[in-house]
Amino acid sequence: MTPAGRLDARLAPVLAQRRADGLWRACRALTPAPAGTVRLGGREVVSFCSNDYLGLAGEPRLAAAAAEELARSGTGSGSAHLIAGHREVHERLEQALAAWVGYERALLFSTGYMANLGVINALAEPGAAIFQDRLNHASLLDGGWLSRGRMHRYPHADTAALAAALAEAPSEPPALLVTDGLFSMDGDLAPLPALAQLAEAQGATLLVDDAHGLGVLGPGGRGSVAAAGLDAAQVPVYVGTLGKALGSFGAFVAGSATLIDFLVQRARTFIYTTAPPPAMAAATLAAVAICRAEPGRRRHLHRLVARFRAGAAARGLPVMPSSTPIQPLRVGEAALALELSARLLEAGFLVTAIRPPTVPPGTARLRITLSAAHTDSQVADLLVQLDRLVPMSLRSAQTDACAG
Ligand SMILES: *Cc1c(COP(=O)(O)O)cnc(C)c1O
Repeated sequence: MTPAGRLDARLAPVLAQRRADGLWRACRALTPAPAGTVRLGGREVVSFCSNDYLGLAGEPRLAAAAAEELARSGTGSGSAHLIAGHREVHERLEQALAAWVGYERALLFSTGYMANLGVINALAEPGAAIFQDRLNHASLLDGGWLSRGRMHRYPHADTAALAAALAEAPSEPPALLVTDGLFSMDGDLAPLPALAQLAEAQGATLLVDDAHGLGVLGPGGRGSVAAAGLDAAQVPVYVGTLGKALGSFGAFVAGSATLIDFLVQRARTFIYTTAPPPAMAAATLAAVAICRAEPGRRRHLHRLVARFRAGAAARGLPVMPSSTPIQPLRVGEAALALELSARLLEAGFLVTAIRPPTVPPGTARLRITLSAAHTDSQVADLLVQLDRLVPMSLRSAQTDACAG
């Protein structure tokens, strides 16, 4: 056997097992179309699974801003920020982001994944305790595991368990407390005021990753920290991503000037990577302006959320407790989640089945996400199809679970 053949022979059984477990994953190529729809395999279907919460990814003003910058400065930034890749438009974007979310400064990263790896590794001193919610995004968990700190995962949103664990942790080096602001697969909010209080009492540094909250929650769309009535003093490290509600690409960390200077020296995923294309920064600048100037998009989105929840409750659908645009429908078994997703697709709705290991075993779900790009009637039609397809057993199981 050739070396390549030996490698394939080693990998193939792993793949076969995945398939057998109903956990197979593959990409499908789709083309975005107007009004929350996508073209997939020659058909137009309504997408209820993107993170484009404000419908900005297809917004012509973002494309125009990017095109203008493309014509001016070309496609690539050419090198890392600290070499020759940092442009004036990056600088303006960092200032606009910091001003929007209410922090002294902001630092761009190429993705949220990179931002989380970089900031956690830079801040966790060797041996420092890192406390993370069990349901934190993979990039936060990876950031902790790759660091020289010691990872502790606390039960989801369980501030009492966290308080007990924090009390046992050494105070030096200072602990890092890390949470999603809005949990990406559950749609619920972190108990930020309680977490901020605990962090303050124990001398820990609180980091909030607001990938799904920025643009969607809080006054002016400033995110979950502002929505919780907190600010830069209590939440010194704020991570925002630009590929979700902002309809663009990339991420940033916001904090004090001292924190940002420190990250410029120490965050390896900032230092050792090519700066994002300037055209994307121009598009993001346009997105920030729209987020701030057009609250109607958020109002429409939150109206759709209320409408969906009322309709789901009336039909006894097993939606998880969430007041945000992420409205997961609890299914349980991965195979059933896949089947429901396939039947929804036949009916003209793209809703992805989320399975382990993205979520804990036995908690596979349909992750339904709403967007300001959707219309009232698209949401009404989705409810009709869910009512037709979701088996009664799931609805009564949900009722039993609640009663128990
Ligand atoms: C999507 C997401 C990220 C990763 O951001 P990218 O820019 O897509 O790499 C990080 N954290 C959370 C909570 C996310 O949902």
